[in-house]
Amino acid sequence: MTTAPPGAARGVVVVGAGHAAASLVGLLRQEGHTGKITMLGEELDYPYHRPPLSKKFAEGDLEQWLRPPEFYREQEVTVRLGEQVTEIDRGSGRVVTASGERIGYDVLVLATGSRPRPLPVAGAELAGVGALRTLGDARALRKWVTEGRTLAIIGGGYIGLEVAAVVRSAGADAVILEREDRVLARVASPELSTILTARHTAQGTVVRTGVGVVGLEGTEGQVQRVVLDDGETIDCTAALIGIGALPCDELAAACDLERGPAGGIVVDEFARTSDPAILAIGDVTCRRVPGLNSIGRLESIPSATEQSRQAVAAILGTPSPQPETPWFWSDQFDLKLKIAGVVRPGADIVCRGNPESGRFALFHLCDGIPVAVESANAAPEFMAGKKWIGAGTPVDPGRLADPGVALRDAVH
Ligand SMILES: Cc1cc2nc3c(=O)[nH]c(=O)nc-3n(C[C@H](O)[C@H](O)[C@H](O)COP(=O)(O)OP(=O)(O)OC[C@H]3O[C@@H](n4cnc5c(N)ncnc54)[C@H](O)[C@@H]3O)c2cc1C
Repeated sequence: MTTAPPGAARGVVVVGAGHAAASLVGLLRQEGHTGKITMLGEELDYPYHRPPLSKKFAEGDLEQWLRPPEFYREQEVTVRLGEQVTEIDRGSGRVVTASGERIGYDVLVLATGSRPRPLPVAGAELAGVGALRTLGDARALRKWVTEGRTLAIIGGGYIGLEVAAVVRSAGADAVILEREDRVLARVASPELSTILTARHTAQGTVVRTGVGVVGLEGTEGQVQRVVLDDGETIDCTAALIGIGALPCDELAAACDLERGPAGGIVVDEFARTSDPAILAIGDVTCRRVPGLNSIGRLESIPSATEQSRQAVAAILGTPSPQPETPWFWSDQFDLKLKIAGVVRPGADIVCRGNPESGRFALFHLCDGIPVAVESANAAPEFMAGKKWIGAGTPVDPGRLADPGVALRDAVH
């Protein structure tokens, strides 16, 4: 564990008012920071939970604030909503807003998140076509998903699958169109992809893989069909584009902060960028990922929270927290999925439990040591797997696969 040099610990300006930012400002006050804190967010809403947007958009009550608005007042955090930062002037230590205001900082924290990757095809601008990132997007999606309607979901990633599950539960139809040969190709094992495809298909979602979308068509400005690369068309009443996210790192690029090969602001274990006065946290970063030999981007709540703790340590000059095993969750129908570690090709997969029963864990082992666990409705297996991954604990595959053997007895 290393200790950051004591920061200026004076005026902290945070750009972005999402998960990472809200977590940071709360922790800063909790840890005794008394200096001025200003949070500038371009959205009009106080920081809110994004995970329910894809899991509960058909229900009301989407406005789930991370902290009640009074919290910021009580903690003397200045929150300025609807305020976009357009430039960082590193020379003078100021940020510039869209309205031309210049705001000075001692420490600047970039927490600008990511945005949906656009689909560069004709028709993407038609009414009824959208992506899912904000409360406004989720409200639009709710209107599109009523009985008798068909949502085409372009991209079989976690967000696409979660949305499909809600669509079917709401009595509408869902068609998933995935370019790769399986859903979740970038992030999950083939085994989990197969299990989830079977579950979605059984619930009535049409899952098409190996299909490229080349256009969207409609009449009077409203989408009516998706056009595939072999000329086939898929009728729909709305289309959701869920093909991944891109880091909002333009401000950093424009002022020459170091960025990763696939974008994202490069940070260390204190969330420090290549400028000692500027930290970055959350989806916008590119960081060392435990279990990977290279730097990479993590887009998850646990990662945003971990980095907000790292940034607090940097600002207050306290030791950096222990690195955490990356993890996240997803809810699809009655499946509470929890995934930890880094899924990589070539690992041996040991299944504990029965995928058909909806309670199982897929342990990924490299030389007998767990490197990832993909679990559904299996909290003890997930917890054990995450701990073993972090500690590099060797396990016995045969005993691990036997649900009659206690998890603690699966360890060598
Ligand atoms: C639909 C959905 C479901 C998800 N489900 C899960 C889940 O189940 N589990 C999980 O772990 N993760 C989930 N995630 C990912 C998780 O929400 C993100 O990892 C997390 O929100 C990242 O926090 P952040 O603060 O980095 O970014 P954000 O929460 O996106 O906040 C960034 C904010 O910065 C603002 N901003 C950007 N540029 C500027 C600028 N120039 N000036 C001012 N403001 C700016 C943006 O408008 C935004 O409000 C989900 C994400 C989505 C979209």
